[in-house]
Amino acid sequence: MTTMTKPEEGALPTGSDAFLSVRDLYVHFSTEDGVVKAVDGLSFDLERGQTLGIVGESGSGKSVTNLAVLGLHNPKTTEIAGEIVLDGQELTGASNRTMERLRGNKMAMIFQDPLTALSPYYTVGRQIAEPYMKHMGASRKEARDRAVEMLEKVGIPQPRTRVDDYPHQFSGGMRQRAMIAMALVCDPDLLIADEPTTALDVTVQAQILDLLKDLQQENGSAIILITHDLGVVSNVADNLLVMYAGRAVERGTVRELIKEPQHPYAWGLLGSMPRLSSSVDEPLTPIPGSPPSLLNPPSGCAFHPRCPYPELVGGDRCATEPPELPAGRGSACHLTAEQKRSVFIEKIQPRLG
Ligand code: SF4
Repeated sequence: MTTMTKPEEGALPTGSDAFLSVRDLYVHFSTEDGVVKAVDGLSFDLERGQTLGIVGESGSGKSVTNLAVLGLHNPKTTEIAGEIVLDGQELTGASNRTMERLRGNKMAMIFQDPLTALSPYYTVGRQIAEPYMKHMGASRKEARDRAVEMLEKVGIPQPRTRVDDYPHQFSGGMRQRAMIAMALVCDPDLLIADEPTTALDVTVQAQILDLLKDLQQENGSAIILITHDLGVVSNVADNLLVMYAGRAVERGTVRELIKEPQHPYAWGLLGSMPRLSSSVDEPLTPIPGSPPSLLNPPSGCAFHPRCPYPELVGGDRCATEPPELPAGRGSACHLTAEQKRSVFIEKIQPRLG
C-alpha cells in the first residue's frame, strides 16, 4: 500500500447504516511516473430512493470513485483502501465473483457513450435479455419478453419490432434509452449514471433525466449521477458532492448548494455554466488554470493555485494547510463562514444573475 494521507476529517462517523456508505476511500494508481492519488480520503452516504449528484471537472475523482464502488478497477495497478458498504455488505474486500453477481442484480452503471457499452454485433434485445437470463435465471423467451417490456418502459416506440434492431439502427437518444433499459433490466438497487446525457441534445437530455427520475420512483433505487454540469444535477439530484483533486470540497442539498454555494471552486463551476437568463453572446466565465496533476497535487488546499481568495485567508495558510470538510452541510475552505457569505453575495451572485 502506498503512503496515504490522513483520512478526511469531518467525514460522517463509520458504522453508518446508510444504504450505500463510503468511508475514507482512497484509490491510488501505480504508474511509471509515480502514484496517482485519484481519490484521497472520501466519505459519503446515499439512501434508497435518493439521488446524489457528484460534480467536478474531469480528473476530480468522481468516475474513479464509482468504478471503485462497482469493483471495476484493475487490482494489479490500483490500490484501494477504506470502506464501501452496500446494504450492509462490505465491497472493498469482496471477491470478483461476488462483485460480478452484485453488478448484475444489485447495482448497474449507465455509461456516457452507449456505443462503447453496446456491442455492434448483437441486437439491442439480446443485449438487454442476456443479463436477465444470467442473473435472474430466466428462460430465453422470458428474457426476450422482459427486453420488450424494458424497451417500452424507456419509451422506445414499437418495442416488439425494435427489439431485433442492432444499435446502429437506433438514434443517439434511443441508444441511451436502450442502455438504461439494459442497466435496469434486473431492477438494481443502486444505479450509477456517469455523464449519461453529455452526448445528447438538450431536449433529449431532459427526457432521459425525467426517465431516470420516473424509474427511480417506480423502483425506489438509489442513484449516483456523475457530471461536470451543475445544471444537469440541479434538476434531478437530492444531494450534491463537489469533488476537486480527489477530495470532496463541498456537500449539501441541491437547494443549499445552488442557492448559496460556499466553496470558491463551486462558485467557479456555477459561473462557467450557461444560464437561461443569459444572452447568447454573454461570455461564460471559465475557472482560470486547469485541474492539478494528481501525481503531485499542490500542497495545502489543492485549489489554491486557481483560487482568487488566499489573500483573504491571510499568510500562506491556503498553500500549506489542507482545509477539512465538516460533517453535514459545509465546505473545505479556510475562509470564515462570514467571508464565504459576503464574497458570494457581493461578487458571485451578481454574476450569476
Ligand atoms: Fe481558496 Fe484558500 Fe479556500 Fe482553498 S482554502 S478554496 S485556496 S480560499
